[in-house]
Amino acid sequence: MLKVVRYRGEAGPAFGVLEGDSVYTIVGDVFGKFRPGERVGAVKELVLLAPCEPTKIVGVGLNYRDHAREAGVPAPEEPVLFVKPSTAAIGPDADIVWPARVERVDFEAEMAVVIGRRAHDVAVADALAYVLGYTCGNDVTARDLQRRDGQWMRAKSYDTFCPLGPYVAVGIDPSNLPITSRLNGDVRQHSATSNLIFGVPELVSFISHVMTLLPGDVILTGTPGRYGTMRAGDVVEIEVGPIGPLRNRLVRR
Ligand code: MG
Repeated sequence: MLKVVRYRGEAGPAFGVLEGDSVYTIVGDVFGKFRPGERVGAVKELVLLAPCEPTKIVGVGLNYRDHAREAGVPAPEEPVLFVKPSTAAIGPDADIVWPARVERVDFEAEMAVVIGRRAHDVAVADALAYVLGYTCGNDVTARDLQRRDGQWMRAKSYDTFCPLGPYVAVGIDPSNLPITSRLNGDVRQHSATSNLIFGVPELVSFISHVMTLLPGDVILTGTPGRYGTMRAGDVVEIEVGPIGPLRNRLVRR
């Protein structure tokens, strides 16, 4: 497994490779052929950013069998999609900001797929070849607005409502990874990606028949049962298999 990060470099944001406690430059193209170059520094001393720059973040509603069972609703026959804007993305350790006039802010632990190649009308059998790798995502949601609006757009779209990271894991199998969220250290969600109703190949293919997916675009694959509500100051941590933790605090400004 190779770990791709983005960090705040002296000349601006840059992709890097995380090996042990150190970040190395990338020689080549992160969406093509690349290898680690010179050591940049200790990861602790760098500011990590969201590990990719999506043009769009495609969310998938209700996509875990255990979540559907718990909610007492039948599994959907095809994926239900929504889009979060690119401006919602933040990196590991960045704060989630509680928006004015929002009453309830929930976290949703999700496996995030990072697209590696332009994908348009891709077959299920070919879909994994269009994926760069996987990271942790938090599909932060203003639950009161989701219910009030009917449409999910506003509830899902606030700035800072899509923590991603801490790195993109390249070269792992996404079909059976444990997924966990913790709120202030207590486990709140625990499942496995083997419970996904629509797996990664199906989602990439399905979405690519709706919109062209570009390198760096993100698919949030859905959250397992019992997402939770946050209070100001709470810290959410998300782990997906060997990836993580993605740690973010909710703050009021
Ligand atoms: Mg979600």
